[in-house]
Amino acid sequence: MLPVIALVGRPNVGKSTLFNRLTRSRDALVADLPGLTRDRKYGQGQHDECSYIVIDTGGITGDEAGIDKAMAQQSLYAIEEADVVLFIVDGRSGLNQADELIADHLRRSNKPFRLVVNKTDGIDENVAMADFYGLGVGQPLPIAASHGRGVSQLMELVLEPF
Ligand code: GDP
Ligand code: MG
Repeated sequence: MLPVIALVGRPNVGKSTLFNRLTRSRDALVADLPGLTRDRKYGQGQHDECSYIVIDTGGITGDEAGIDKAMAQQSLYAIEEADVVLFIVDGRSGLNQADELIADHLRRSNKPFRLVVNKTDGIDENVAMADFYGLGVGQPLPIAASHGRGVSQLMELVLEPF
């Protein structure tokens, strides 16, 4: 059985961009419109010798009704299915109330997860991460999904137990 990694976070933080990079596909719709990917999407990736399954999700806004509710439900399913969760936040927009809700959920889920600060390209990594220590969920890992910065180090760390 391949390890299953779920990408979870509020809309527009770069989950689909990371999914595409990990699976090298253009399949997960990436757009400037928040919340475009509405269902869970599965792909396969590989790091060194280790293959894994990655799940892209629509996102959790913390203000769920209608389609947002469905998206949040998909994210909760993805967390259940995963061996490890990558909790993605946006290093450019700073800490958000939805991030707090997701952190609470993950803490209660008993699922291993890592906090990943995306969009650190062209900005000071340490400044981008500073806000997110406040979530109290451990050391944030900086990446830039669209450029690939930090992604291989992230996968090294995440796949280490498998
Ligand atoms: P999702 O809603 O979480 O799946 O987010 P997307 O992957 O669709 O990305 C949302 C927006 O953020 C798009 O305009 C992406 O091009 C942009 N984006 C994603 N990753 C990065 C990154 O590492 N740096 C920057 N500057 N923008 C990014
Ligand atoms: Mg998406």
